[in-house]
Amino acid sequence: MTAGIYAARQKLNTLLITKAFGGQIARKAVAIENYPGFEEISGTELIKKFEKHLRKQKVDIERDEVTKLKKIGNHFFVQTKSKNRFQSKTVIIASGADPRPLEVPGEKKFIGRGVSYCVQCDGPLFANKTVAVIGGGNAGFEAVIFLSNWAKKIYILEYGERVKADAENQERVKKTGRVKIITNAALKKIQGKQFISSVIYQDRKTKKEITLPLEGVFVEIGSQPSTSFAKDLVDFNERDEIIVEFETCETKTPGLFAAGDVNVGSFKQIVTAAGEGAKAALAAYDYLEKLK
Ligand SMILES: Cc1cc2nc3c(=O)[nH]c(=O)nc-3n(C[C@H](O)[C@H](O)[C@H](O)COP(=O)(O)OP(=O)(O)OC[C@H]3O[C@@H](n4cnc5c(N)ncnc54)[C@H](O)[C@@H]3O)c2cc1C
Repeated sequence: MTAGIYAARQKLNTLLITKAFGGQIARKAVAIENYPGFEEISGTELIKKFEKHLRKQKVDIERDEVTKLKKIGNHFFVQTKSKNRFQSKTVIIASGADPRPLEVPGEKKFIGRGVSYCVQCDGPLFANKTVAVIGGGNAGFEAVIFLSNWAKKIYILEYGERVKADAENQERVKKTGRVKIITNAALKKIQGKQFISSVIYQDRKTKKEITLPLEGVFVEIGSQPSTSFAKDLVDFNERDEIIVEFETCETKTPGLFAAGDVNVGSFKQIVTAAGEGAKAALAAYDYLEKLK
Protein backbone atom coordinates (compact mmCIF):
# COMPACT_ATOMS: atom_id res chain seq x y z
CA MET A 1 0.00 0.00 0.00
CA THR A 2 2.88 2.38 0.73
CA ALA A 3 4.49 1.53 -2.62
CA GLY A 4 1.13 2.29 -4.27
CA ILE A 5 0.86 5.66 -2.53
CA TYR A 6 4.43 6.66 -3.42
CA ALA A 7 4.18 5.46 -7.03
CA ALA A 8 0.97 7.42 -7.58
CA ARG A 9 2.49 10.54 -6.04
CA GLN A 10 5.36 10.25 -8.53
CA LYS A 11 2.58 10.36 -11.17
CA LEU A 12 3.31 6.83 -12.34
CA ASN A 13 0.50 4.93 -13.99
CA THR A 14 -0.01 2.50 -11.10
CA LEU A 15 -1.92 -0.77 -10.74
CA LEU A 16 -2.03 -2.53 -7.36
CA ILE A 17 -3.03 -6.20 -7.45
CA THR A 18 -3.82 -7.82 -4.13
CA LYS A 19 -5.60 -10.91 -2.85
CA ALA A 20 -6.77 -8.99 0.21
CA PHE A 21 -6.02 -5.82 2.14
CA GLY A 22 -4.11 -5.96 5.37
CA GLY A 23 -1.85 -8.97 4.92
CA GLN A 24 -0.35 -10.18 8.15
CA ILE A 25 -1.64 -7.19 10.10
CA ALA A 26 -5.09 -8.77 9.75
CA ARG A 27 -3.82 -11.68 11.88
CA LYS A 28 -2.68 -9.38 14.68
CA ALA A 29 -4.46 -10.47 17.84
CA VAL A 30 -3.46 -7.67 20.20
CA ALA A 31 -3.04 -3.93 19.62
CA ILE A 32 -0.13 -2.60 17.56
CA GLU A 33 2.04 -0.39 19.76
CA ASN A 34 5.06 0.32 17.59
CA TYR A 35 3.80 2.11 14.49
CA PRO A 36 4.74 5.78 14.86
CA GLY A 37 1.86 8.19 15.20
CA PHE A 38 -0.38 5.59 16.85
CA GLU A 39 0.51 4.73 20.41
CA GLU A 40 -1.99 1.89 20.36
CA ILE A 41 -4.15 0.84 17.42
CA SER A 42 -5.83 -2.42 16.41
CA GLY A 43 -4.66 -4.16 13.24
CA THR A 44 -8.10 -3.68 11.66
CA GLU A 45 -8.07 0.08 12.31
CA LEU A 46 -4.55 0.53 10.95
CA ILE A 47 -5.43 -1.39 7.76
CA LYS A 48 -8.52 0.78 7.26
CA LYS A 49 -6.39 3.91 7.57
CA PHE A 50 -3.80 2.60 5.07
CA GLU A 51 -6.54 1.62 2.62
CA LYS A 52 -8.32 4.98 2.92
CA HIS A 53 -5.03 6.78 2.25
CA LEU A 54 -4.28 4.54 -0.74
CA ARG A 55 -7.73 5.01 -2.27
CA LYS A 56 -7.24 8.81 -2.21
CA GLN A 57 -4.42 8.39 -4.76
CA LYS A 58 -4.73 7.73 -8.45
CA VAL A 59 -4.11 3.98 -8.20
CA ASP A 60 -6.08 1.27 -10.02
CA ILE A 61 -6.86 -1.61 -7.70
CA GLU A 62 -7.49 -5.22 -8.76
CA ARG A 63 -8.60 -7.81 -6.19
CA ASP A 64 -6.89 -10.88 -7.63
CA GLU A 65 -3.98 -13.25 -7.09
CA VAL A 66 -0.83 -13.01 -9.19
CA THR A 67 0.13 -16.47 -10.45
CA LYS A 68 2.88 -15.76 -12.96
CA LEU A 69 5.36 -13.00 -13.69
CA LYS A 70 7.52 -12.89 -16.85
CA LYS A 71 9.82 -10.35 -18.45
CA ILE A 72 10.24 -10.09 -22.21
CA GLY A 73 12.52 -7.30 -23.43
CA ASN A 74 11.80 -4.26 -21.29
CA HIS A 75 8.26 -5.38 -20.42
CA PHE A 76 6.84 -7.37 -17.54
CA PHE A 77 3.81 -9.60 -18.05
CA VAL A 78 1.63 -10.36 -15.05
CA GLN A 79 -0.92 -13.16 -15.06
CA THR A 80 -3.57 -13.66 -12.39
CA LYS A 81 -5.71 -16.47 -11.02
CA SER A 82 -8.81 -15.11 -12.76
CA LYS A 83 -6.88 -15.21 -16.05
CA ASN A 84 -6.33 -11.47 -16.30
CA ARG A 85 -3.11 -10.30 -17.95
CA PHE A 86 -1.34 -7.01 -17.35
CA GLN A 87 1.74 -5.45 -18.88
CA SER A 88 4.09 -2.94 -17.25
CA LYS A 89 7.57 -1.48 -17.42
CA THR A 90 8.33 -2.09 -13.76
CA VAL A 91 6.98 -4.30 -10.96
CA ILE A 92 7.19 -4.07 -7.17
CA ILE A 93 6.63 -7.36 -5.38
CA ALA A 94 5.22 -6.78 -1.87
CA SER A 95 3.50 -10.11 -1.38
CA GLY A 96 4.77 -10.63 2.16
CA ALA A 97 4.46 -14.00 3.79
CA ASP A 98 1.95 -16.71 4.66
CA PRO A 99 1.88 -18.68 7.91
CA ARG A 100 4.33 -21.59 7.90
CA PRO A 101 2.48 -24.91 8.12
CA LEU A 102 3.35 -27.58 10.70
CA GLU A 103 3.52 -30.38 8.13
CA VAL A 104 2.33 -33.08 10.53
CA PRO A 105 -0.33 -35.74 9.87
CA GLY A 106 -3.83 -34.39 10.50
CA GLU A 107 -2.97 -30.74 9.91
CA LYS A 108 -4.59 -30.42 6.48
CA LYS A 109 -7.54 -32.65 7.36
CA PHE A 110 -8.54 -30.49 10.32
CA ILE A 111 -8.13 -27.02 8.78
CA GLY A 112 -11.39 -25.26 9.66
CA ARG A 113 -12.23 -28.14 12.03
CA GLY A 114 -9.91 -27.15 14.85
CA VAL A 115 -6.67 -26.17 13.07
CA SER A 116 -6.31 -22.41 12.57
CA TYR A 117 -3.58 -20.03 11.40
CA CYS A 118 -5.45 -16.90 12.52
CA VAL A 119 -6.31 -16.44 16.15
CA GLN A 120 -7.86 -13.07 15.37
CA CYS A 121 -10.30 -14.74 12.94
CA ASP A 122 -11.09 -17.98 14.78
CA GLY A 123 -10.32 -17.38 18.49
CA PRO A 124 -13.94 -16.62 19.51
CA LEU A 125 -15.04 -20.05 18.17
CA PHE A 126 -13.14 -21.69 21.02
CA ALA A 127 -15.11 -20.32 23.98
CA ASN A 128 -14.71 -22.62 27.02
CA LYS A 129 -12.55 -25.04 25.03
CA THR A 130 -9.05 -26.38 25.52
CA VAL A 131 -6.60 -25.37 22.81
CA ALA A 132 -2.89 -25.47 22.01
CA VAL A 133 -0.82 -22.73 20.47
CA ILE A 134 2.14 -24.18 18.59
CA GLY A 135 5.13 -21.84 18.85
CA GLY A 136 6.48 -19.94 21.83
CA GLY A 137 7.62 -16.75 20.11
CA ASN A 138 5.95 -13.35 20.36
CA ALA A 139 3.24 -14.29 17.83
CA GLY A 140 2.41 -17.41 19.86
CA PHE A 141 2.26 -15.51 23.13
CA GLU A 142 0.11 -12.75 21.63
CA ALA A 143 -2.22 -15.44 20.28
CA VAL A 144 -2.50 -16.82 23.82
CA ILE A 145 -3.27 -13.38 25.29
CA PHE A 146 -6.11 -13.01 22.78
CA LEU A 147 -7.37 -16.58 23.24
CA SER A 148 -7.46 -16.18 27.01
CA ASN A 149 -10.63 -14.07 26.46
CA TRP A 150 -12.39 -17.29 25.42
CA ALA A 151 -10.53 -20.56 25.91
CA LYS A 152 -10.78 -22.45 29.20
CA LYS A 153 -7.26 -23.87 29.07
CA ILE A 154 -4.35 -23.12 26.74
CA TYR A 155 -1.16 -25.09 26.12
CA ILE A 156 1.84 -23.50 24.48
CA LEU A 157 3.94 -26.14 22.71
CA GLU A 158 7.46 -24.91 22.05
CA TYR A 159 9.94 -27.06 20.12
CA GLY A 160 13.04 -25.47 21.66
CA GLU A 161 14.38 -25.61 25.22
CA ARG A 162 12.84 -22.28 26.10
CA VAL A 163 10.21 -19.89 24.77
CA LYS A 164 11.42 -16.87 22.78
CA ALA A 165 8.68 -14.34 23.51
CA ASP A 166 9.79 -11.10 25.12
CA ALA A 167 9.51 -10.55 28.87
CA GLU A 168 6.42 -8.35 28.64
CA ASN A 169 4.45 -10.95 26.66
CA GLN A 170 5.59 -13.69 29.05
CA GLU A 171 4.37 -11.63 32.02
CA ARG A 172 0.97 -10.99 30.37
CA VAL A 173 0.52 -14.69 29.60
CA LYS A 174 1.43 -15.63 33.17
CA LYS A 175 -1.23 -13.26 34.48
CA THR A 176 -4.00 -15.11 32.59
CA GLY A 177 -3.49 -18.02 35.02
CA ARG A 178 -4.71 -20.72 32.64
CA VAL A 179 -1.76 -21.40 30.40
CA LYS A 180 0.62 -24.34 30.54
CA ILE A 181 3.91 -23.98 28.68
CA ILE A 182 5.48 -27.21 27.43
CA THR A 183 9.00 -26.86 26.03
CA ASN A 184 11.02 -29.45 24.06
CA ALA A 185 7.73 -30.50 22.48
CA ALA A 186 7.82 -31.85 18.92
CA LEU A 187 4.27 -32.05 17.59
CA LYS A 188 3.76 -35.40 15.84
CA LYS A 189 0.08 -35.71 14.99
CA ILE A 190 -3.30 -34.00 15.15
CA GLN A 191 -6.18 -36.43 15.50
CA GLY A 192 -9.93 -36.74 15.94
CA LYS A 193 -13.03 -37.83 14.05
CA GLN A 194 -14.92 -34.93 12.49
CA PHE A 195 -13.16 -32.35 14.70
CA ILE A 196 -9.88 -32.40 16.64
CA SER A 197 -9.99 -34.41 19.86
CA SER A 198 -6.27 -34.56 20.72
CA VAL A 199 -2.68 -34.02 19.60
CA ILE A 200 0.38 -36.19 20.12
CA TYR A 201 3.74 -34.62 20.82
CA GLN A 202 7.12 -36.08 21.61
CA ASP A 203 9.07 -34.85 24.62
CA ARG A 204 12.42 -34.31 22.87
CA LYS A 205 14.35 -35.02 26.08
CA THR A 206 12.70 -38.25 27.26
CA LYS A 207 11.59 -39.29 23.72
CA LYS A 208 8.20 -40.21 25.23
CA GLU A 209 5.06 -39.57 23.15
CA ILE A 210 2.31 -37.78 25.05
CA THR A 211 -1.35 -37.32 24.08
CA LEU A 212 -3.02 -34.02 24.97
CA PRO A 213 -6.83 -33.98 24.74
CA LEU A 214 -7.94 -30.64 23.22
CA GLU A 215 -10.23 -29.10 20.63
CA GLY A 216 -8.17 -26.44 18.85
CA VAL A 217 -4.65 -25.97 17.46
CA PHE A 218 -3.37 -22.50 16.56
CA VAL A 219 -0.24 -22.53 14.42
CA GLU A 220 2.26 -19.76 15.20
CA ILE A 221 5.61 -21.09 14.00
CA GLY A 222 6.57 -18.25 11.70
CA SER A 223 5.94 -17.56 8.07
CA GLN A 224 7.11 -18.38 4.56
CA PRO A 225 7.51 -15.78 1.80
CA SER A 226 4.85 -15.75 -0.95
CA THR A 227 7.08 -15.82 -4.00
CA SER A 228 6.21 -18.78 -6.24
CA PHE A 229 4.95 -16.55 -9.10
CA ALA A 230 8.33 -14.79 -9.39
CA LYS A 231 10.77 -17.65 -9.08
CA ASP A 232 12.17 -17.37 -12.62
CA LEU A 233 13.17 -13.72 -12.19
CA VAL A 234 14.73 -13.50 -8.73
CA ASP A 235 17.34 -15.18 -6.51
CA PHE A 236 16.45 -16.48 -3.06
CA ASN A 237 18.35 -16.96 0.20
CA GLU A 238 18.07 -20.17 2.23
CA ARG A 239 14.75 -18.99 3.72
CA ASP A 240 13.22 -18.42 0.24
CA GLU A 241 13.34 -14.65 0.72
CA ILE A 242 14.06 -12.55 -2.37
CA ILE A 243 17.59 -11.16 -2.58
CA VAL A 244 17.59 -7.40 -3.21
CA GLU A 245 19.97 -4.45 -3.30
CA PHE A 246 19.70 -2.72 0.07
CA GLU A 247 19.65 0.80 -1.38
CA THR A 248 16.86 0.32 -3.92
CA CYS A 249 15.12 -3.01 -3.13
CA GLU A 250 15.89 -3.99 -6.76
CA THR A 251 16.17 -7.71 -7.53
CA LYS A 252 18.59 -9.29 -9.99
CA THR A 253 16.12 -8.44 -12.78
CA PRO A 254 16.32 -4.75 -13.75
CA GLY A 255 13.02 -2.99 -13.07
CA LEU A 256 11.80 -5.67 -10.65
CA PHE A 257 11.74 -4.64 -6.98
CA ALA A 258 10.81 -6.54 -3.81
CA ALA A 259 9.79 -4.73 -0.61
CA GLY A 260 8.72 -5.76 2.88
CA ASP A 261 8.61 -9.22 4.43
CA VAL A 262 9.08 -10.91 1.07
CA ASN A 263 12.73 -9.84 0.82
CA VAL A 264 15.87 -10.72 2.78
CA GLY A 265 15.53 -7.84 5.27
CA SER A 266 16.07 -9.13 8.80
CA PHE A 267 13.51 -7.02 10.61
CA LYS A 268 9.96 -7.96 9.62
CA GLN A 269 7.87 -5.08 10.89
CA ILE A 270 5.08 -2.86 9.58
CA VAL A 271 7.25 0.24 9.69
CA THR A 272 10.14 -1.41 7.84
CA ALA A 273 7.79 -2.92 5.22
CA ALA A 274 6.19 0.49 4.69
CA GLY A 275 9.63 2.13 4.46
CA GLU A 276 10.76 -0.36 1.84
CA GLY A 277 7.53 0.13 -0.12
CA ALA A 278 8.39 3.81 -0.35
CA LYS A 279 12.02 3.07 -1.26
CA ALA A 280 11.03 0.59 -3.99
CA ALA A 281 8.49 2.98 -5.56
CA LEU A 282 10.99 5.85 -5.68
CA ALA A 283 13.63 3.51 -7.13
CA ALA A 284 11.09 2.29 -9.72
CA TYR A 285 10.51 5.93 -10.68
CA ASP A 286 14.29 6.44 -11.16
CA TYR A 287 14.47 3.25 -13.24
CA LEU A 288 11.67 4.49 -15.53
CA GLU A 289 13.33 7.90 -15.90
CA LYS A 290 16.52 6.17 -17.05
CA LEU A 291 14.56 4.08 -19.58
CA LYS A 292 13.31 7.23 -21.33
C1 LIG B 1 0.70 -12.40 14.38
C2 LIG B 1 1.59 -11.26 13.91
C3 LIG B 1 1.79 -10.14 14.71
C4 LIG B 1 2.59 -9.07 14.26
N1 LIG B 1 2.75 -7.98 15.07
C5 LIG B 1 3.43 -6.90 14.62
C6 LIG B 1 3.52 -5.69 15.39
O1 LIG B 1 2.97 -5.58 16.49
N2 LIG B 1 4.23 -4.65 14.87
C7 LIG B 1 4.86 -4.73 13.66
O2 LIG B 1 5.47 -3.75 13.23
N3 LIG B 1 4.79 -5.85 12.91
C8 LIG B 1 4.11 -6.95 13.35
N4 LIG B 1 4.03 -8.07 12.60
C9 LIG B 1 4.78 -8.12 11.32
C10 LIG B 1 4.04 -7.33 10.24
O3 LIG B 1 2.69 -7.73 10.20
C11 LIG B 1 4.72 -7.57 8.89
O4 LIG B 1 6.08 -7.21 8.99
C12 LIG B 1 4.08 -6.72 7.79
O5 LIG B 1 2.71 -7.01 7.71
C13 LIG B 1 4.75 -7.02 6.45
O6 LIG B 1 4.08 -6.32 5.47
P1 LIG B 1 4.17 -6.75 3.93
O7 LIG B 1 3.30 -5.78 3.21
O8 LIG B 1 5.56 -6.92 3.53
O9 LIG B 1 3.52 -8.22 3.84
P2 LIG B 1 2.10 -8.79 4.26
O10 LIG B 1 1.56 -8.12 5.47
O11 LIG B 1 2.31 -10.28 4.32
O12 LIG B 1 1.15 -8.43 3.03
C14 LIG B 1 1.28 -9.06 1.79
C15 LIG B 1 0.05 -8.77 0.93
O13 LIG B 1 0.25 -9.33 -0.37
C16 LIG B 1 -0.90 -10.09 -0.75
N5 LIG B 1 -0.44 -11.18 -1.63
C17 LIG B 1 0.37 -12.22 -1.32
N6 LIG B 1 0.58 -12.99 -2.40
C18 LIG B 1 -0.11 -12.43 -3.41
C19 LIG B 1 -0.29 -12.76 -4.79
N7 LIG B 1 0.30 -13.82 -5.34
N8 LIG B 1 -1.09 -11.96 -5.54
C20 LIG B 1 -1.68 -10.86 -5.01
N9 LIG B 1 -1.53 -10.49 -3.71
C21 LIG B 1 -0.76 -11.27 -2.93
C22 LIG B 1 -1.48 -10.58 0.58
O14 LIG B 1 -2.87 -10.88 0.43
C23 LIG B 1 -1.24 -9.37 1.48
O15 LIG B 1 -2.27 -8.44 1.36
C24 LIG B 1 3.23 -9.15 13.00
C25 LIG B 1 3.03 -10.28 12.19
C26 LIG B 1 2.22 -11.33 12.63
C27 LIG B 1 2.00 -12.54 11.74
